[in-house]
Amino acid sequence: PLYHQAKFVLSAPDLKSAPADAGREVAFAGRSNAGKSSALNTLTRQKSLARTSKTPGRTQLLNFFNLNEQQRFVDLPGYGYAKVPEKVKRQWHALMETYLHERQSLYGIILVMDIRHPLTEFDWQMIEWCGYSKKPLHILLTKADKLNHGAAKNTLFKVQRELQEQELSVSLQLFSALKRNGIDDIHQLLDTWFQA
Ligand code: GDP
Repeated sequence: PLYHQAKFVLSAPDLKSAPADAGREVAFAGRSNAGKSSALNTLTRQKSLARTSKTPGRTQLLNFFNLNEQQRFVDLPGYGYAKVPEKVKRQWHALMETYLHERQSLYGIILVMDIRHPLTEFDWQMIEWCGYSKKPLHILLTKADKLNHGAAKNTLFKVQRELQEQELSVSLQLFSALKRNGIDDIHQLLDTWFQA
């Protein structure tokens, strides 16, 4: 499958250093520690495609992965460390806003949330930006294995309701990198995004 062919291309601190803005890309966002790297590694079936880097300073880069010449994944910098200096927060904010608004080849965003801590302030910011730029958004409620099935489903419905109250059309699903659950669902969604 296409997604297993993902290959690291480059890390960019800004849009000027990014690969040419052509073809189509899907970006992965998430609060630090949400499980974004594990989700990316799981759905590409690669052990260490996305590094599970825990160093805040190193996370302020856009990481590009080619699926082929025309299709890419982008790993967006995580966010949410309480100790991050104000200056780094501002840089992150500027980078994300610029990327989400100006990147023409960006088709849609996958937002990864730890199912035990859904809809953080960071997540709402991302949701708002996706709304402004009118990009499709799909939410992965990951680490679903941390809850029993009933509790996981309840969280799914609860998050769905909260988004509907805001009149946001966002899709969402359960996921577990550990148990490898939800992979087919996200592959199918990505198929529609890359072919649409
Ligand atoms: P990132 O900072 O968002 O890239 O998060 P990571 O992918 O590095 O994951 C953060 C922590 O959560 C690590 O200790 C992972 O092993 C753990 N983790 C990630 N995904 C899952 C999952 O699906 N289930 C469980 N139980 N743990 C997970």
